[in-house]
Amino acid sequence: MNKTGFGFLRLPRIDANDEKSVDYQLLDQMVDTFLEKGGTYFDTAYTYLGGVSEEALRKSLVERHPRNVFQIATKLPGYKVKSYEECWTLFEEQQQRCGVSCFDVYLLHWLNDKNYTLAEQYDEFRFLRELKAAGKAKEIGFSYHDGPELLDRILTAHPEVDIVQIQVNYLDWNSEALRAKELYEVAAKHNKKIIIMEPVKGGNLAKIPENAEQLLKQFRPDESIASWAIRFASSLDQVAIVLIGMNSMEQLHDNMRELDPVTSKELRSLEKVAEIIRSNTAIPCTGCNYCAPNCPMHIAIPRYFAIFNDYKRNPDEMWKMKPVYMEIKKTFSSPSSCIGCQNCERNCPQKLGIVEYLKEVAQAFE
Ligand code: SF4
Ligand code: SF4
Repeated sequence: MNKTGFGFLRLPRIDANDEKSVDYQLLDQMVDTFLEKGGTYFDTAYTYLGGVSEEALRKSLVERHPRNVFQIATKLPGYKVKSYEECWTLFEEQQQRCGVSCFDVYLLHWLNDKNYTLAEQYDEFRFLRELKAAGKAKEIGFSYHDGPELLDRILTAHPEVDIVQIQVNYLDWNSEALRAKELYEVAAKHNKKIIIMEPVKGGNLAKIPENAEQLLKQFRPDESIASWAIRFASSLDQVAIVLIGMNSMEQLHDNMRELDPVTSKELRSLEKVAEIIRSNTAIPCTGCNYCAPNCPMHIAIPRYFAIFNDYKRNPDEMWKMKPVYMEIKKTFSSPSSCIGCQNCERNCPQKLGIVEYLKEVAQAFE
């Protein structure tokens, strides 16, 4: 079993501080190896890396490989458009950026309560249906970040949808806030093809507390910790693709191995592991960066949260963290400059209380 799709949200970089500085030499190698190992599915979006992701997909994949050996999924930022006609304008731009006339999968990006209202207002589902009828998209759907009730309502109103992309991982499976299990069950009930995003929760499930790691190593001492998260998502019957962001060859090789389904005994251990992780993670941020571009104060929210989590895991190592913190502050505003407007929170798929967390970060480091 291997359901890995190559996610283009995070790509290898030349400059660690610049997500747009794509390391094309490495990316080309990774794309080639992914295809050689039997992978076919690539996922991007209009907004990923400020548009650089779609362009990178054209350069590394479309211009270097025959069209019939891969599938491309991309997403329309329907929450940005101001008219039905604008959907077509953005779509044409995406065709140019990606260098293709037809997408294998075309999704409305990031439906939640607010964005679904906009999607209905601007007739974006009609736009999807017309794309499919015109042969410009083979399958249509949406990526989703809200509760199971709304998902059920959308899928009931729009049976034309082929695909639903949701966030599922073993940490969020029984989470009261993210309700991943219920989301999966709703999508399965409507008989949709399910694509999983964030199976490793932005890398958070690749590095877990030592006692949790020991629990998993008892079963499979030679397997990476990240592979458990990928096996969990891949083991769900109705899941067609598990999207993984990769930025090294080592990760790529690890993710392209054949995986056994998770056994019921292993599942019970994963539940215990999830409990341990929850009690050890100060801020469950995935680093998706959906929040920061909306911040009027230019605060590097996920970077501050990452350094805070490191500090919480190793409180004796403040001396190591503080210089990194000061370095971030040279380019971005400090956490204490937050004005509490909550623009960030409205855009956080993890529904984090960012304003309060920033206060904690400021208190720890300033
Ligand atoms: S609440 Fe603070 S961090 Fe969030 S967008 Fe506003 S200023 Fe930025
Ligand atoms: S705070 Fe939320 S939106 Fe921002 S990077 Fe973390 S998970 Fe993503």
